[in-house]
Amino acid sequence: MSHKVVLIRGDGTGPELCEAVLKVLDASGAKIEWVEAEAGEKPLNRGEPIVPDRTIELIKQYKVALKGPMTTPIGKGSVSANVTLRKRLDLFACMRPVWTLPGVPTPFQDLNIVIFRENTEDLYAQVEYYTTPDVAVSLKIISRPGSRRILEFAFEWARANGRKKVAAVHKANIMKLSDGLFLQTAREVAQKYPEIEFSDYIVDNMCMQLVTRWRNFDVLVLPNLYGDIISDLAAGMMGGLGVAPGANFGRDCAVFEAVHGSAPKYAGLNKVNPTALLLSAVLMLRHLKETEAANRIEQALYRVLQEGKVRTYDLGGRAGTQEFAQAIVANMR
Ligand code: NAD
Repeated sequence: MSHKVVLIRGDGTGPELCEAVLKVLDASGAKIEWVEAEAGEKPLNRGEPIVPDRTIELIKQYKVALKGPMTTPIGKGSVSANVTLRKRLDLFACMRPVWTLPGVPTPFQDLNIVIFRENTEDLYAQVEYYTTPDVAVSLKIISRPGSRRILEFAFEWARANGRKKVAAVHKANIMKLSDGLFLQTAREVAQKYPEIEFSDYIVDNMCMQLVTRWRNFDVLVLPNLYGDIISDLAAGMMGGLGVAPGANFGRDCAVFEAVHGSAPKYAGLNKVNPTALLLSAVLMLRHLKETEAANRIEQALYRVLQEGKVRTYDLGGRAGTQEFAQAIVANMR
């Protein structure tokens, strides 16, 4: 039986990245029937909403989507397609794993951390106003149910995947109410998972510890803003935005996408690295229980990275997006 998966090709470098990833997925034997949907600049330029209702309906219907990056229009009144998708599908849990990839240059060897970022609350609630013409206020909203569901999601994932430690990250020493509530909820949730070692870190301390003692960390769970920033830091430790994958989970749907954006300055140049989107697709295949295809792709990718002959510019090579994908296909066994 094949899986129906919604495909959003995205903006900027999105379409060429999707083309490369589809080539590899096709060759892997994964049984997928793609259902194309639009979001981002295309519908927006036609005067439609940045995420059309039909796209939301298709994802609700088929439950799983693979998405290229989307450009966020800058300016008053413009909403982000990514934030809209996450809100309308209630994709509250963002998972961003980082690990040391064979052959990818980084000083951070033996890296193996899974980051869970809360995706719907915090400063991303986008409640902002001026109190006077000279003072702007952004509300940081942290709720007990919102905190509980991301914390439970992270602990459940840790338990199901044999992970030993979960650390909650916060700034409760300063934001005693909002981050304090997140921390208090974390301590309560942790009690239900006695086999998992729980700890908590203030976010600035976590930044320092991550780059000095990264081997100490296993699973991290963070409110939205800290999760956004720390997961990009961790992507850099893994080898850069070109290789860092991600996934967004709700109760019913999952949307898989790279950490990086649409890199518009490289659009149409066949230059950017498809690894991040490809590894996001591998996460998707594991979610769909297409384990064999996922393993086949991962091993072929590792062979190409390890050999180092075919690399995109960000990893010090000259290969184009499609050539890199072709090398992975050629290395598939
Ligand atoms: P970006 O991630 O698009 O690019 C920043 C830089 O990272 C690029 O210039 C490039 O040097 C490098 N890079 C990114 N992806 C790469 C890849 N696959 N291979 C090699 N190098 C890569 O960030 P930005 O320039 O700040 O954002 C561009 C647009 O993307 C903005 O409109 C932003 O809002 C949007 N964005 C979308 C998403 C998403 O769709 N999930 C995420 C972040 C940013």
